[in-house]
Amino acid sequence: MSFDYDYFVIGAGSGGVRSARIAAGHGAKVAIAEEYRVGGTCVIRGCVPKKLLVIGAHFAEDLEDARRYGWTIKDKSFDWPTLRDNVLADVDRLNANYQSTLDSHKVETHRGRATIAGPNQISINGKQVTARHILVATGARPMVPDVPGADHGITSNEIFHLEKLPASAIICGAGYIANEFAGILHELGVEVTLVVRSDTLLRGWDRSLADRLLAISTEKGIHFRLNTKPQRIEKLDDGSIRMHCEGGKALEADMLLWAIGREPNSSGLGLEALGIELKANGAIPVDAASHTKLPWLHAVGDVTDRVQLTPVAIREGHALADTLFGSTEWTVDYDLIPSAVFSHPPMASVGMTESEARNTLGNIKIFTSDFRPMKNVFSKRNERSLYKLVVDASTDRLVGAHMIGPDAPEILQALAIAVKAGLTKAQVDQTIALHPTMAEELVLMR
Ligand code: NAP
Repeated sequence: MSFDYDYFVIGAGSGGVRSARIAAGHGAKVAIAEEYRVGGTCVIRGCVPKKLLVIGAHFAEDLEDARRYGWTIKDKSFDWPTLRDNVLADVDRLNANYQSTLDSHKVETHRGRATIAGPNQISINGKQVTARHILVATGARPMVPDVPGADHGITSNEIFHLEKLPASAIICGAGYIANEFAGILHELGVEVTLVVRSDTLLRGWDRSLADRLLAISTEKGIHFRLNTKPQRIEKLDDGSIRMHCEGGKALEADMLLWAIGREPNSSGLGLEALGIELKANGAIPVDAASHTKLPWLHAVGDVTDRVQLTPVAIREGHALADTLFGSTEWTVDYDLIPSAVFSHPPMASVGMTESEARNTLGNIKIFTSDFRPMKNVFSKRNERSLYKLVVDASTDRLVGAHMIGPDAPEILQALAIAVKAGLTKAQVDQTIALHPTMAEELVLMR
């Protein structure tokens, strides 16, 4: 049977673009469909613009601390449109890079919404095309809760485009996005209140790190309303928002940001008609090799809701393309994936938390370093870092590493190699400290 394409990818985000490019490199005839902009969440409205905002926001502290180092900064002021527009311009640059990568690999780009019309069949812009293999890489979108007036709030999709910064903001949620934007907005002078439905930030993270972030954020002036659930949202005459809460006092602010998780973009693709039963949260079920139950249909990235992280989607897309069109079959190793929250200060983690290790291994050793980085001591900034190593006492192997403090994600990426390689605590201890650094604490924990 002949097809128009060997591979048709729906969704030009991180996973889709990588998979299309690798498949094309193996000689496949590839097309990709994108209804919005090439690059997907990470590039267009996620990791990349967020990280630029994190960097931009942190100058607030750096400029303040610079005085202790002898710098006089006159007329210090911040202009949101400048940061916003420069960030959006960088997004345009990356968007163009992604497009040129696709073009240079001879991947045909279709602008528009593609749906699956039948076995090996795609409908795009009123045309039907066929493909030997179809990949769904449509990502996920921010969730908005089912409470009256919820649409008065915005999500992380809209926040990069704000006309002006609000004077105050409510952020609902306590995960990655909530804590990252709490930091960004607070540094930029917005009065921020996080509304948290439990008494815990960053569920799944090592408790001591999450508690440290809560303490530092509170000290900085970010407000927290714990054990608080939104009930109804009202828009007031002056354009501000009132959040009525279950069993608690209402809150008012100029802006409301929902940061309560992301749900797979799986509806309206024609999957149900093909007999694909979506999971309760809308995720497409796939096996370890990213195949659905139909031999010609595959899915990678956030739409499968395995691990919602860009590098994971990229690897899934790469493995699938190699498996379908190359000479090597491989699958993604999901063990020991590092991740970071770009809060102020940032935190990063790999492997088991202390409580996970206690529950699964029983016999563990915990090493911590709780210190004030030199820069903070000198600046008289009362902000302590916390590093924690989790060690399996029976083998002496590192099974987890957790850090909060300046540059924690940069440091942890290197440490994650040691954890992934199964190094022992004794091997870490054999390494001579690189002095004076914050990272030297890792080899000095006894
Ligand atoms: P998230 O990290 O899963 O956190 C969701 C938060 O919202 C949790 O605190 C959760 O509370 C709360 N929540 C859920 N439903 C709620 C409701 N109906 N009402 C009130 N609160 C509710 O989600 P996210 O911050 O939206 O980010 C989505 C995903 O994107 C992340 O899981 C991560 O994989 C990825 N991401 C990664 C990065 C990064 O790598 N730096 C940055 C951004 C996003 P509970 O704890 O009680 O469930």
